[in-house]
Amino acid sequence: MLNKYALVLTSIKGIGVKTFSYLIPESLKEIIQIGQPVLVPFGRMGLINAFVVGFSNYLPENIKAKNISKILDTTPIFDIDYLKFLEWVADYYFCSIQNVIECAVPMKFLNTEKKELSQKFIEFVSFENATKRQKEILELLQNKGKTDLIEFEKEAKTTRTTINKLAQSKCLKITEEQIYRNPLNIFKTQELQDFPELLPEQQEAYSQIEKRLGTHSRILLHGVTSSGKTEVYFKAIKKVLESGKNVLFLAPEIALASVLTKRLAKRFGTDITAIWHSSISDGEKFDVWQKIKNNEIRILAGARSAVFAPLKNIGLIIIDEEHESAYKQTMPSPRYDARTVAQKLAEYNNCPILCGSATPDINSYYYAKNSNNLLEMKKRYNDYPMAKVKIIDMREEHFRANNGIFSRALVNAIENNLKDKKQTIILMNRRGFSTYTQCLACGEVIECPKCAIPLIFHSQTQTLKCHYCEHEETLPEKCPKCGSEALKNCGTGVQKVEIIAQKLFPDARIVRLDSDSMSKKNQHIEILEEFSKGNIDILIGTQMLAKGLDNPNVTLVGVINADNSFNLPDFRSCERGFQLLTQVAGRAGRGDNPGEVYFQTYNPDFFALETAKEQNYKSFYETEIQAREDFDYPPFSKIIRLILSSKNQYRAERCAQEIAMRLNDIVEKRQISEPLAILGPCACIIEKLQEKYRFQILIKNKLEDKGHRFILNFLSQVKLPDDIKLTVDVDPLDIL
Ligand code: ADP
Ligand code: ZN
Ligand code: ZN
Repeated sequence: MLNKYALVLTSIKGIGVKTFSYLIPESLKEIIQIGQPVLVPFGRMGLINAFVVGFSNYLPENIKAKNISKILDTTPIFDIDYLKFLEWVADYYFCSIQNVIECAVPMKFLNTEKKELSQKFIEFVSFENATKRQKEILELLQNKGKTDLIEFEKEAKTTRTTINKLAQSKCLKITEEQIYRNPLNIFKTQELQDFPELLPEQQEAYSQIEKRLGTHSRILLHGVTSSGKTEVYFKAIKKVLESGKNVLFLAPEIALASVLTKRLAKRFGTDITAIWHSSISDGEKFDVWQKIKNNEIRILAGARSAVFAPLKNIGLIIIDEEHESAYKQTMPSPRYDARTVAQKLAEYNNCPILCGSATPDINSYYYAKNSNNLLEMKKRYNDYPMAKVKIIDMREEHFRANNGIFSRALVNAIENNLKDKKQTIILMNRRGFSTYTQCLACGEVIECPKCAIPLIFHSQTQTLKCHYCEHEETLPEKCPKCGSEALKNCGTGVQKVEIIAQKLFPDARIVRLDSDSMSKKNQHIEILEEFSKGNIDILIGTQMLAKGLDNPNVTLVGVINADNSFNLPDFRSCERGFQLLTQVAGRAGRGDNPGEVYFQTYNPDFFALETAKEQNYKSFYETEIQAREDFDYPPFSKIIRLILSSKNQYRAERCAQEIAMRLNDIVEKRQISEPLAILGPCACIIEKLQEKYRFQILIKNKLEDKGHRFILNFLSQVKLPDDIKLTVDVDPLDIL
């Protein structure tokens, strides 16, 4: 029997993404399918766009359903398997399916008017009618041919009005062209690059991967930086494509995904390669989506959201730099981890998932090791030696009356490096100028009025900024508490390091790279390009510069306050710190020049620092995994984090207590309180965020799926008053 009602999904301003039921007219009953875009009447708004997402013969409540007006396109945009996959995500991360669809399916598909990104170009036409000043501009253009308008404006130091006038008097022509941010449209591949012969170690890794194709294995390729992991991936991709299957390739961020896509296209061809991430234009998403559906795209590369692209018939999923936390979306919901979702996708496709890293996630390493899926590559391609790491004990520096941020050894090394015309990287993993602003008279530390967190001074803007919310204020002249003028910006941030470096090395070309130094999108890509062209001597930055840089002329890396990363009150802080230091050390000595690395620290004997110095992952892992086991942290349990937040501190706390009590009652009754430990509630480490007080309950689940379902079932029955918000973070990356 044919269904009476269709469930359709809409996205309406002010209401958000929701589903509604509509009657299916007789004439449409035979052709209507899940995934089709349709038109439906919606109150005073008239006809609106929607997708069909389900069918039923009953209405949930006593409502009068209206008719679906029209099927816009009989070809569905997605199918039922795809919806099921998204449903799994919604279940696992405890959020609504609407929420997941909103994140996965470009909702702009619903808008009939397609807005494209466009770019304006100008071309020289003639000198007729031009004034003397205008001629200068036109002369510049004449030699250039067709030029991007914005770029040209900058270069010719002219304004849009001038250019428009010139266009009106027919001296030049303005054309508008559609552009996509797809890197593949920027260059054309002529000839495909050859595959190099693999080294024995690479070959061995490859054959192990080949053996596992067609099985649902979770492979970890642990290879030191520059061991040639990418070539191993590429050979595996070739094999999978030959077998008629497709490949999904994830990179932790958009910039890396773009670089990767170019490499893939050069090897496998532009026509079968595509990129997918959150900031490609809707028009392009639509194109890629259609091409994927027609099976024209064989390799899809992208950042975490690419895991939701409707790629079918997948034979291999590759996750490069798999340890990166950018794979997890923390805000907004769905708080999904692309690595976990990819695993589910691999299971549906019965294909292996191949993770690669020089510093794997502790969990991945543990699972791979215990399932015999761990592949290792220990040698750098070309046998370049690993950079030599020196640990500088800053306590000794102070003892010898050097109270600066740079140790004498590092200053010497930088000076020598500048002399040799080599490049230097300085890591200071903290944004801003200082770390807190304190009144020396009364001791008051200036905090964000909305969050219980010190405000941080930014030297460029001369303001205090909160790094957890948008709050920004000018640096007060007097202490807000006692009125004294003795305010001091204490501690060290990356801006302070930059200013001091400029004083120490006045002739060097120094550039800072962090999220504050970028006034426009993709500026960090530009900075990295300038750096690799050799136009920057010293690049100073936060963890942003620890990734992906592959620059043979970098021979020196200095880390200021190497302890910084270890001191966060979070069970992953050692892992994060170790990864950061190892990655940044790997930036030195990629060419023929051996690299030198300096870690400046106040805690030289700390195990994570020592193992990072030796670049000894295994030794780090052995110590860390023992600590995880001792405290039942992942991989020995899975964590679900509940946060109850409210403007009313008392009510948030009471509510958290009640939920914890009820949870404790049930687990005790069922005698599962040992494998399903309920911890808390306690105030979050960041107690107050954006004017809301926060209390958390941590659940350590050792019962796998059963425990997971148990908790989520419980939570689905929790009813909260309007002024209290419950945030559920499944497998959280931090617990701050
Ligand atoms: P990783 O991803 O492990 O850091 P890459 O795959 O980027 O390393 O390899 C490092 C460098 O070595 C690259 O420039 C790459 O082209 C080169 N390379 C790796 N393997 C080979 C090979 N078998 N033949 C020739 N060049 C190789
Ligand atoms: Zn004061
Ligand atoms: Zn704040």
